[in-house]
Amino acid sequence: MTAPSQDALSAAVSDLMPMASDIFDRIRAASRDHDGVTRPAWSSQDQTAADILFGAARDQGLATWQDAIGNAYAELPGRDPSAPGILSGSHLDSVARGGNFDGLAGAVAAVVALAAMHRAGLTPGCRLTAMGIRCEESVWFGIAYVGARLAVGAMGRAEFDRLVRLDSGRSITAHMQDLSLAADDIWNQGPVISPANTKAFLELHIEQGPLLEEQNTPLAVATAIRGNLRHGDGVCHGAYQHSAATPRRLRQDSVLAVTELLQGLEALWHEIEDGEDPSAVFTVGKLFTDPDHHALTKVPGVCHFSLNFGSTEQATLDRAGAAIAALSEDIGQRRRVRFVLGEAVGSSPTPLDPGLRARLRESASRLAIPVREFATVGHDASIFARAGIPAAMVLVRNGEGSHNPHEKMAMADFELGTQVLAATMATISGAAGG
Ligand SMILES: [Zn+2]
Repeated sequence: MTAPSQDALSAAVSDLMPMASDIFDRIRAASRDHDGVTRPAWSSQDQTAADILFGAARDQGLATWQDAIGNAYAELPGRDPSAPGILSGSHLDSVARGGNFDGLAGAVAAVVALAAMHRAGLTPGCRLTAMGIRCEESVWFGIAYVGARLAVGAMGRAEFDRLVRLDSGRSITAHMQDLSLAADDIWNQGPVISPANTKAFLELHIEQGPLLEEQNTPLAVATAIRGNLRHGDGVCHGAYQHSAATPRRLRQDSVLAVTELLQGLEALWHEIEDGEDPSAVFTVGKLFTDPDHHALTKVPGVCHFSLNFGSTEQATLDRAGAAIAALSEDIGQRRRVRFVLGEAVGSSPTPLDPGLRARLRESASRLAIPVREFATVGHDASIFARAGIPAAMVLVRNGEGSHNPHEKMAMADFELGTQVLAATMATISGAAGG
């Protein structure tokens, strides 16, 4: 892309920021719930978000359409209609009483990038598509990435037919029918998005941790999406005994056994994080005794806990799994308790595309926008990457985390992220003026 074209594109992105603010405000007002927003998947709220955003895309001269399950798209045609296109977007749903920018920021940024290119008079070499994705959050149907998985053909009909919204108890098809979607068409059409028609997926998303604030930097290029290894409902069974009458050698103390396990796993985490894998994280989200049976004067007989390792490296997750098994076996024997960990669930780490990451860094450098690089958590991008479509992500600084009403992305940072996204889409699509 020539320097005058880049300047025209940057100016157009800036010109479109009032429109972006207005879209955020209108969608927030339409999905407000106490001090946050609630946009369940396949509800009137996420449909309204799609209608507002893609209505604005039409007003900007972009063609729009919806697939059979309601993922929403805007398109800017390329010089070669048969060339594989470039796709960008994020999810439209939110958790209950969540924040307005988690997901929505990436869908708005994609529409703004296309509209800016159109406004700047640039024609991409291949088709550019902005996507508003349904149902990324797992809180609605119990699993994440439903809209993205259906779009790339990575969900079978049997799994789909079992999906029930956790709060309403109604099937996913019933919720789709509420929105007049003919979901059955998805099984006749085949995947809407595939490596044959899409050569890159780029997702802008607010950062969900505190790193960019700490590092006083507006943007990051994500290196990889962490996988995880989880035991959600671990239990340690010992015996309830008299606290004063039972000597140490005869105790079967479930709490002290669990704390030994946790300390062993924390030591392993520190060793891995200080050594070969700085992306490693370890969380004990749940730890409790039974309030019907526990007491100040009782040795605790049962202790419940969860274990959650995350990493961009499969070797770390494997090492954690082996350590959990070995430690629980050893501690169980020595302390005469029994660990029941239940089935391990988890996901594999997803590397993001090195070439696209380099293009994002180059765009930022050309625009003199500082960026960091670090690993991120699960996002729709992982589904496109696993489907064989090279994927990369831009993270935007966001105080106060996400999945809560207090997330605070500054519009100035959103603009910088959208500049990098638009410039990268223009470069890799071979956009040219005139
Ligand atoms: Zn999200």
